[in-house]
Amino acid sequence: MTPGVRLILLGKQGAGKGTQCVRLSRHYVVPHIATGDMFRAAVKSGTEAGRLVKRYLDAGELVPDVIVMRVVADRLDQDDTKARGFVLDGFPRTVHQAEALAALLSPSDVDVVIDLEVPTGLVLQRLASRRVCSACGANYSLDSPPKFDWTCDVCGGEVVQRGDDTEVAIRRRLKLYEVATAPLVQWYLGRGQLEVVDGVGDADTVMARLVAVVDARRGIRAESP
Ligand code: ADP
Ligand code: ZN
Repeated sequence: MTPGVRLILLGKQGAGKGTQCVRLSRHYVVPHIATGDMFRAAVKSGTEAGRLVKRYLDAGELVPDVIVMRVVADRLDQDDTKARGFVLDGFPRTVHQAEALAALLSPSDVDVVIDLEVPTGLVLQRLASRRVCSACGANYSLDSPPKFDWTCDVCGGEVVQRGDDTEVAIRRRLKLYEVATAPLVQWYLGRGQLEVVDGVGDADTVMARLVAVVDARRGIRAESP
């Protein structure tokens, strides 16, 4: 079987996408492309693009598609993604973005789109205790903090609560997810590309479910003519 994979992970804020995408990208040795992380990095570095997107991030609103598509198209055009594939995290977020992605990848396509399912009550709980590394984006929580004094285990960066993880901004993002992103699940279902995976459980258990589903799909693709 050819190495690498082309994977999209969908799921509400707090479903565990970030945590699982990091693991999946290591497992399949493909880049983890997280549009939220890319935008936060741009804001932090104070570039022109960063100044443009800051107010959308602060408000928990979607960044306009033209900006999103420029950033994603640039990233997908690099050698590592072209050769091995990717795990997409936080993109696409609207049917319009999904259509633009399909056009970018055409004539080939993603291997599978996974909807990581977690009940809303649980994601609210997870988001309230979520903490992230301000340097590399690694995820922690009040229940599983870094080993030493809110210093990232991976890179030594400062682990903080995200500026948009306030109750108001979280509710706004969850509402937006329902309105703009949930229709994507239907769109990919209609294209026969969707798998639903239960996101409740510890990170190892969920990861095992994800790998089983991805490998089954790659098996199907490898066998088809
Ligand atoms: P969350 O899933 O908790 O919203 P992300 O890190 O995925 O966190 O995204 C943070 C913010 O970045 C979003 O609230 C939005 O402003 C912006 N963003 C990220 N990805 C996209 C996208 N594909 N389209 C539009 N805006 C995006
Ligand atoms: Zn870090």
